Amino acid sequence: MPDSFLFPLSSDPSTVSVLVVDDTSTNRFILAKLLSREGYDVYQAEDGYSALSIAETQQPTLILLDIMMPEMDGYEVCKQLRDNAKTADIPIIFLSSLDAPFDKVQAFHRGAADYVTKPFQAEEVLARVRHQVRLQLAQQQQQRLRAELENRVQERTQLLELAHDQLLEIALTDRLTRLPNRLSFVKRLSKVMAQVRLSTAVPATSELAGDHFAVLFLDCDRFKRINDSLGHRVGDQLLKGVARRLTQIQHECMAVDTIARFGGDEFALLLVNVPDRETVVAVAEDVISAVAMPFALAGREICINASIGLVWGEPTYVAAEHLLRDADVAMYRAKDCDRNQYLWFESAMHNRELDLLQLETDMRAALERKEFELYYQPIVDLTTIKIVGFEALLRWQHPTRGLVPPDEFIGFAEETGFIVPLGDQVLSMACADIARWEREGLIGPGVTVSVNMAAQQLLQPNIVERVEQVIESTGIASHRLRIELTERSIITNQSVVDEVLRALRDRNIQLSIDDFGTGYSSLSCLHTLPVNCLKVDRSFVQPITSNPESLGIVPLILNIAKTMNMQVIAEGIENITQLRALQKLGCEYGQGYLFQKAVPAERAIALLSRPLDSWNDWQHGWGESPGNHKASA
Ligand code: C2E
Ligand code: MG
Ligand code: MG
Repeated sequence: MPDSFLFPLSSDPSTVSVLVVDDTSTNRFILAKLLSREGYDVYQAEDGYSALSIAETQQPTLILLDIMMPEMDGYEVCKQLRDNAKTADIPIIFLSSLDAPFDKVQAFHRGAADYVTKPFQAEEVLARVRHQVRLQLAQQQQQRLRAELENRVQERTQLLELAHDQLLEIALTDRLTRLPNRLSFVKRLSKVMAQVRLSTAVPATSELAGDHFAVLFLDCDRFKRINDSLGHRVGDQLLKGVARRLTQIQHECMAVDTIARFGGDEFALLLVNVPDRETVVAVAEDVISAVAMPFALAGREICINASIGLVWGEPTYVAAEHLLRDADVAMYRAKDCDRNQYLWFESAMHNRELDLLQLETDMRAALERKEFELYYQPIVDLTTIKIVGFEALLRWQHPTRGLVPPDEFIGFAEETGFIVPLGDQVLSMACADIARWEREGLIGPGVTVSVNMAAQQLLQPNIVERVEQVIESTGIASHRLRIELTERSIITNQSVVDEVLRALRDRNIQLSIDDFGTGYSSLSCLHTLPVNCLKVDRSFVQPITSNPESLGIVPLILNIAKTMNMQVIAEGIENITQLRALQKLGCEYGQGYLFQKAVPAERAIALLSRPLDSWNDWQHGWGESPGNHKASA
């Protein structure tokens, strides 16, 4: 590698300067001339003092320093140069007379880079100067490179730190609402929990002692419906609106430390330095009222409610996740209780969750072990009191609990989605029973069997094919099958359901609306639905007495059904007064304990060939006003 490449001395020697220090002017003159000719800038000093001053101000690349000088000798100058940070690194070549006592070891020890003996030879001086200058320049270049490298490393580090901060923010922030997310909340909660654990371990007089905290876990009721009906954009706006209102509460209440969105319509609030539970309840009530105020979105007013689970931060909690799990449980219980509610978590709730978990496990095993069976309740022609059909009602023959009614597990099966395989088995069992009865000639051509179907089951993409397949494999006449759907499942998923119902009607399957008149009024769209039967809910039948006012909306439902050419089945007829009133109103069909409770298949089919179990009992009272006569099962 050429010298000039490594050391740019020859290309630009003017940037290199040499200080010549000698008390003999002839020496200074000769050396200065020699060096100037080579292209160096040359400074001259005649004694140690001016040498020190020039070295500090001019910062020469190299110093040629005579040792033997009056007042301050070269060794002392060298020492002082080394002691000054500004000159400490300038290389020094000592000049010494051959006859003077010169200790080379001492010279290097004092910091000399080299030495030249006098009288000097021009070539030797130049060679040693060049060598030192090159070394010095190499060192400077190395320093520059190192500084540059350090700069670059620093810049990179800053960039990385910035990127890290940004990534951290992304990882800890909910994109939609800009609130902290679940991860961030868990971090903060864990920190607060650790502090509180510490504070409970210190004496009561300590500043930390007595800190309490609480968590509010909030879920917006019926948010999914708004999302489904008005679209995700409106749903997003709504969530942002909820976040804004919660943030406002945070500004107004010192105790609210952190508000986070956990995803979906779930939010959590962390309260710290809480004096008592009443403070937490007050915040929960504020949250409920804030969320309940209508939101103006998409040109309309939208109302939602919140359910909140509250957890008091007991120091016994070891992990934030445990506390959040309990808050979640309490929130779901609040939802179950009544909408628009808050509930404190209690350990009994946890037991219930465990019970439900057990129930789910048991149900799955029960399906395998065929512990589910169908009971049948007769549906009766109210004029002739003849059986025209049956409703298949599910029972669970539990190995230890005995016969479990559907109210105790259907709701839960719907919640967990287990209703889909369970409902599928119900359909297969009912069709298998019909097939057997048809084969054995036990049922007349008009007898139908009603099967209850849950919304989730109806929303299965292949439900029509599945029903068709069961009908084909059992070989039953499709008109025998009547599917009962609740008003609610039809209304909440109307567009999908409408298509499915039409496909089922095209296959000659009968469709009934169950529990008609409860809650979700479907009157407005009734005329468009392809159903052919309404079942009047037993809550309308049961209040019926001989007082005409007790009929309530039953006459209206019957009128509607007549206008729409639909059949009507009244549910829950328990006495003759109710039966008479319904007959008088022209209600064609009914079911209820007055005739028969739901019974196992064999007993139900046997009812077709003999009078209903209670027939004899109540027909004696026929026309004699037997009042609250109840049928025996
Ligand atoms: P539902 O479909 O409205 O069934 C009628 C319920 O009323 C049955 O209760 C029946 O035993 C009861 N009932 C009938 N007559 C009377 C009466 O005179 N008085 C009184 N107090 N009750 C009467 P069950 O069998 O306990 O079924 C309850 C609900 O469970 C059903 O209501 C239905 O919604 C659901 N369910 C039953 N089986 C199934 C099923 O296989 N699938 C689905 N998805 N749901 C089912
Ligand atoms: Mg039903
Ligand atoms: Mg019903």
